[in-house]
Amino acid sequence: DARPIRRALVSVSDKTGLEELGRALAAAGIEILSTGGSARALAAAGIAVREVAAHTGFPEIMDGRVKTLHPKIHGGLLARRDLPAHVEAQKAHDIPDIDLLVVNLYPFQATVAAGKAWADCIENIDIGGPAMLRAAAKNHDFVTVVVDPADYAGLLAELAAHGNGTTPGFRRRLAQKAYAHTAQYDGAIANWMAAQDGEALPESISLNGTRVQMLRYGENPHQQAAFYRTQPPRPGVATAKQLQGKELSYNNLNDTDAAFELVAEFEAPAIAIIKHANPCGVAIAQTDGELAAAYARALACDPVSAFGGIIALNRTLDAATAEAIVKLFAEVVIAPAIDAGARAVLSAKPNVRVLETGALPDPAARDVVVKSLAGGFLAQDRDGGRINTADLKVVTKRSPSDRELADLLFAFRVAKHVKSNAIVYARDGATVGIGAGQMSRVDSSRIAAWKAEEAAKAAGAAQSFARGSVVASDAFFPFADGLLAAAAAGATAVIQPGGSMRDQDVIAAADEAGLAMVFTGMRHFRH
Ligand code: 5GP
Repeated sequence: DARPIRRALVSVSDKTGLEELGRALAAAGIEILSTGGSARALAAAGIAVREVAAHTGFPEIMDGRVKTLHPKIHGGLLARRDLPAHVEAQKAHDIPDIDLLVVNLYPFQATVAAGKAWADCIENIDIGGPAMLRAAAKNHDFVTVVVDPADYAGLLAELAAHGNGTTPGFRRRLAQKAYAHTAQYDGAIANWMAAQDGEALPESISLNGTRVQMLRYGENPHQQAAFYRTQPPRPGVATAKQLQGKELSYNNLNDTDAAFELVAEFEAPAIAIIKHANPCGVAIAQTDGELAAAYARALACDPVSAFGGIIALNRTLDAATAEAIVKLFAEVVIAPAIDAGARAVLSAKPNVRVLETGALPDPAARDVVVKSLAGGFLAQDRDGGRINTADLKVVTKRSPSDRELADLLFAFRVAKHVKSNAIVYARDGATVGIGAGQMSRVDSSRIAAWKAEEAAKAAGAAQSFARGSVVASDAFFPFADGLLAAAAAGATAVIQPGGSMRDQDVIAAADEAGLAMVFTGMRHFRH
């Protein structure tokens, strides 16, 4: 039940694989119609081709804005070969069948990504291409449509297997792909226009993802999952190159993203260990040469949970740090670069997935974050908020010392990446106790303090790691109890957004306990 292909229309911006395709189609005795640039490329390769303008008897006009928008083209793509009325119309108006359409569109997204001017981007909106793709895809009972050079080989194999014809299932799959492609293309245009007008969240929004790969399963083995890349991608997990290791899973990708976004927050060399999308240890270093030591301090925060974690760095991974990392089992290691020495060390552990991104995500970059819910989805700006010294308001009698201040800012940046309610104890540029994801803030406080004690025990230290630390809370303390729990654990300074009805009580309790406390005026819920 394959349908033979006798005439093809080829109109491609991306000329990749065009010559091989043209040669194979010509060898199969298929007549090739083509638009200006594509026709020239085919003819230059010595392949017989007929210009669309010669076929329609109408020239390409208006700088190519009107090339294929002609009844002879659209009639040839849309005619149902099994309807006498359609066949009659074809005869009456001299409209030959077009059985195969090979089109890829003007590179609109690439033009935008290259930062070109408005007028250039507008000129790179393809009109005739999508019209033909939609027509051919609608008529997939009879017409084969190809939008992606990656599908040329499959097309040629199909033709070879079916006497220069294609089968219904093959045509239908390609039709679906063509509609996905035009929808994504128009979505990209709409999103770009909205962004140009400063509308981050327009009336209608297109998610514009292209599947990178099917994943073995989702969060759990009974869930299907796939990984989609948006256009243009922000540097990060979606643009990373996997240098070694097993296939990445859904959870790996999710956790690795959380890990890499976290380290990207810091100007200083930073390393983070992530489990279940929450950090279980983060540390910064003074110099790139101290990354291995920073890793050791991050690990000391929660050495039990760190097993099987995701490790992210915001600097080139060196051999010494890699040596330290491979002592414990890590699921994934991600860094902007992995030097040769580190690669050699990691290659001895072939199961560890190693990702190199080439760049760091801009922590302040604007992006839309979506979350699905029954019957729809929520969209919001990504949390690009960052607190610096100048944003802080000292609310207690005592001001934090310089050392406390540095740790307060560090702890608050980490807290932004911890699921709420988030409480983070830090000391000397390393977390020493993290309480994540509790329904009550005081519980998160207690858990973080308990973790700091456990970590101290594991390290053989005489007293809790929370002694002499600072503490960050992602949102205000609604009561003094969470703050008092932190003071009891040994924290000397506090950073929190403020803004509770009971701020005065909380400040009074802080003063009484001799704490220094600063308000950020910005909270970082993360659910
Ligand atoms: P060529 O390089 O062959 O001159 O042009 C190929 C490109 O033109 C393809 O990307 C195709 O989608 C696009 N195209 C084909 N017909 C039309 C049309 O009528 N109007 C516009 N704007 N683009 C077209």
